[in-house]
Amino acid sequence: MFDVAGIPVPNLTKPTKEVPKYGCRDCGEAHERTTKVIGKCVAKEAIQYWAEKVGREGMYTVLTDDPSLSFEDAKRKIKASEIDTKGQSETAMDRGSQIHNWLEMIGDSVPCDEPPFPGYVEQAKRFLDDFDVDILKTEFQMAHCGLGYAGTVDGIARIGKQPPRRNRQYDLTGKLVLFDYKTNKAGRTYVPSHSLQLQCYLEALQWSLEHRVDGPTQQGPELGLLVGIGEESYSTRVVEADADAVKTLLDWYQVIS
Ligand SMILES: [Zn+2]
Repeated sequence: MFDVAGIPVPNLTKPTKEVPKYGCRDCGEAHERTTKVIGKCVAKEAIQYWAEKVGREGMYTVLTDDPSLSFEDAKRKIKASEIDTKGQSETAMDRGSQIHNWLEMIGDSVPCDEPPFPGYVEQAKRFLDDFDVDILKTEFQMAHCGLGYAGTVDGIARIGKQPPRRNRQYDLTGKLVLFDYKTNKAGRTYVPSHSLQLQCYLEALQWSLEHRVDGPTQQGPELGLLVGIGEESYSTRVVEADADAVKTLLDWYQVIS
């Protein structure tokens, strides 16, 4: 059984306006924010350049999860997802962080009444109930000192059951997952940047378990779960750990920064 208490806590200083990176006291280096790495790497020009450098097939696999897409369709898909994310108004960001806080309290079993945005909260409860989610730990920082990035994930959970009509190609019953909530009106999970983000966290956790823990290495979760919480519906997307994708992303980040 996975021991959550065995997840190492990195010794990081928070990024600030002046110093926009994490300072890592474990290795003495500065680590980039995961969201910054991804934001920069999936920018339109970067994608174009990357397509030329690593080949289209590799790019599709990493960015769209769907190698069968045509180049134009992949570009459209990527563009659409970026507009959706960047188009979030301040109200939407504020709503997102309030719902996040509420979900964190639920995860930590902190009593709370008067939930904000009842529609969203209702959908979050549906998700937790449908998958019989046992939240083991919420909001924790991870650092990958090997590849030089850090970030905070919404949590780690054990999934109790697999609802029949969701994520048909996976059976999540009994599985340990890293999960990240995405709140937006339609309750969607975005491709590609959100999948990559979760893959970065999966790698960072595994790296930490292998390098920052004394004694035998635990196998961390091999799957991530993106949970899109909307006003009237929710959706889930399973993300598989992919060390190569993360390595490629960070290599690429070195090239463009
Ligand atoms: Zn470090």
